[in-house]
Amino acid sequence: MSADTSLIKEPAGRPLDRTELIRFENVTKRFGEQTVLDGLDFSVDTGRHVTLIGPSGSGKTTILRLLMTLTKPDEGTITVGGQKLFPADEKQVREVRRNIGMVFQQFNLFPNMSVLRNLTEAPVTVLGLGKDEAEARARELLDLVGLADKCDAYPTQLSGGQQQRVAIARALAMRPQVLLLDEVTSALDPELVAGVLDLLRDIARTTDITMLCVTHEMNFARDISDQVLMFDSGQVIESGSPEKIFGEPEHERTREFLGAVL
Ligand code: ADP
Repeated sequence: MSADTSLIKEPAGRPLDRTELIRFENVTKRFGEQTVLDGLDFSVDTGRHVTLIGPSGSGKTTILRLLMTLTKPDEGTITVGGQKLFPADEKQVREVRRNIGMVFQQFNLFPNMSVLRNLTEAPVTVLGLGKDEAEARARELLDLVGLADKCDAYPTQLSGGQQQRVAIARALAMRPQVLLLDEVTSALDPELVAGVLDLLRDIARTTDITMLCVTHEMNFARDISDQVLMFDSGQVIESGSPEKIFGEPEHERTREFLGAVL
């Protein structure tokens, strides 16, 4: 399968064409007594494919949820394309959010809508696309993810792998500049994992979309990443190319973690 880049290349929102696209500065996030992110600093350049690795509970998903504004930090600044995402007013948040798409572990498709409608709903209501245009684009994207024949199906009629392909197509239908992927194969039966990862490899290879990816699939991380961030206790403890992180990790915790998962 080969991705048609013209379909997903142009972001719908105002282009966030900065070299440094995402910046977390001194971000702290607490849940009750627990400090999940502790003065976190990191940045991601435009077009990069960045993988977040680290033990369960180290705050990786929380970072994606902060970028989606599904939760707010207690302290610090989050900037996307030079525009503040936090702290910011509602209007600015909406503008920045328009450029960010997310695919979740549990797909999160709208169960009461057909596959086609899952893809057209937000482009029509949020981007203001006409119904015909949104549908034409949705059909092209479903073709891209190998599900052209499932337009009229409902999510429950699809396998997990198919549902995740629809979720990926739905995120791309918003023409995001940033795609967040949160353990997108964790809920899939083993035989369905490879197809979804191959699709994402294709998208990574053939588009300019900046990707932040939380994954336990280390081979996939090695393949698609320009940069790997290793998290522990709410901090980035080590970052670098996949060759460096997987081949010559410097930090003892990184070595321990990779020793346990590889
Ligand atoms: P990771 O993705 O690295 O496994 P998470 O970001 O999902 O880690 O979670 C980090 C920690 O924050 C975990 O201990 C988790 O239980 C806690 N946490 C996450 N979301 C919430 C929430 N909504 N309420 C309370 N605790 C949460």
